[in-house]
This record gives sequence, structure tokens and C-alpha cells, in this order.
Amino acid sequence: ATKLELDKVYKIYGDGSIAVSNFNLQVLDKEFIVLVGPSGCGKSTTLRMIAGLEEISEGELRIKGKVMNNVPPKDRDIAMVFQNYALYQHKSVYENMAFGLKLRKLPKDEIKKLVNNAATILGLEDHLNKKPKDLSGGQQQRVALGRAIVRDAELFLMDEPLSNLDAKLRVQMRAEITKLHQRLNTTTVYVTHDQTEAMTMATRLVVMKDGFIQQIGSPKEVYENP
Ligand code: ADP
Ligand code: ADP
Repeated sequence: ATKLELDKVYKIYGDGSIAVSNFNLQVLDKEFIVLVGPSGCGKSTTLRMIAGLEEISEGELRIKGKVMNNVPPKDRDIAMVFQNYALYQHKSVYENMAFGLKLRKLPKDEIKKLVNNAATILGLEDHLNKKPKDLSGGQQQRVALGRAIVRDAELFLMDEPLSNLDAKLRVQMRAEITKLHQRLNTTTVYVTHDQTEAMTMATRLVVMKDGFIQQIGSPKEVYENP
């Protein structure tokens, strides 16, 4: 089934610059879509429009067939992971992962179960009482992933989540995120400027340039027709 649709979507910023032009994409349930292209090509703007963090200038965004253009971020069933992790520095790992669930007023037992389960999946079970500053970069990014997966959202959005990690860890985390996706099957839109990352992680790639879609296809299709 179609999970997410962008239909002739445009983003024109206040200064008149056109960041995204005629963006058309249908994302199926469980896909892992990677938006790839050089810095400034409109990847992040596109992701932020899907999240509701940026207004859509023209066109339509639909999630499960419902028009979402004017739905505020908090009313979208979306979990987002950012490049800089965006963790609460004064809260423990446990509290960082539990925070969104507390806001949603889930029962304490339920929160405990969800957080502990996510911690186990991500190998954070021994770090729950630590503060982010006492973790490595990879562990901090796992906490950010944990905060996303406990939400059990219908859509994951990831904006360059591995860019702050060193090369070795980046390769390791690619594999971990792929495994996580195979386990949870959550529909994902993932942004990166790194072509190798895109090729190894995507079920389908959306190659962007200057705000336009240049190419859409499987890694194999894009590799064979560059
Ligand atoms: P990417 O994520 O591919 O690096 P962005 O979506 O961040 O690209 O940016 C796309 C274009 O929109 C760039 O030319 C950028 O300078 C411009 N842009 C991004 N944010 C703003 C903004 N708030 N106001 C004006 N222009 C912006
Ligand atoms: P509060 O409403 O005070 O945040 P919680 O029960 O959510 O109450 O958490 C109390 C403290 O216990 C928090 O500091 C949290 O870090 C810790 N904590 C709760 N459950 C666990 C757990 N399974 N593992 C480690 N620490 C936990």
C-alpha cells in the first residue's frame, strides 16, 4: 500500500529562492527511501516538509491518502532523527527515550517496557542511567534512534544521522540501521549526501539536484544508469 505521497510539491522560501521543484514521489509501506544529492539540492527541505517543520508552498503531501499540508508536526505520526542527535543533555538515557512517551501520558509500566525493549535492541541496556555526555558518538546516536523507535510511529525520517560519526562507526551504524529497519519494517525516508551510504541502505534512491528529482530507482538501477 502507498504510505506517503508527495504530489507536485514545491518549496519557495521567503527570499524567493526555489529550494524544491515539482517533487513527485510515492513511498510504499515498509520502504527505506534515501534522498541523496549534493549539499543544497533540497533534501533537508523535503524531509522537513514531510515532518511539517517547513510549510509546503505548492502541491500536496498525503500520508495514507490523507492530505497533511496543514497538519502540525505534533499531530503527524512521525519520528525524526537529526544529525546532531538533539538529546537532552541534563536527562539520562532512559529519560531521553521516555520523554516523548511521558508527554503522550502513556502508563509508567508501558513506558518502562518500551524503553527497556528499545535499549536491548540498540545495546544500551547498561547505559540507561548515564547522561549523553558520558556516551560515545555512536551510543548517543543510538539513543536518538531509541527515542524514535519507542514512539512506534508510522514513519521514520532521518536527516544525515551518521554525519557526525567517524568513518568506521558510520559504516557500522549503517548496518545497524538497516538491521533495525528489517526488524521493525517502519517506512523510512533517510537523507544523506553520501552516495555509498545511499547505495548500501536504500530500497529505493531519490537522486536530487538543484531542487529537482534527477532519478528514482533501486540501488542497482541507479548504479547501472548513473
Ligand atoms: P540539502 O539538505 O540538500 O543540503 P536544503 O534543503 O538544506 O538542501 O537547501 C536547499 C536550498 O534551499 C539551498 O539553496 C538552501 O540555501 C536553501 N534554503 C534552505 N533553508 C532556507 C531558508 N530558511 N531560507 C532560504 N533559503 C533556504
Ligand atoms: P519520573 O517520573 O521521576 O521520571 P520514572 O519511573 O520514569 O519516574 O523514572 C525514575 C528514574 O528511574 C529515572 O531517573 C529513570 O532514569 C530511572 N529508571 C526508570 N526505569 C529504569 C530502567 N528500566 N533502567 C534504568 N533506569 C530506570
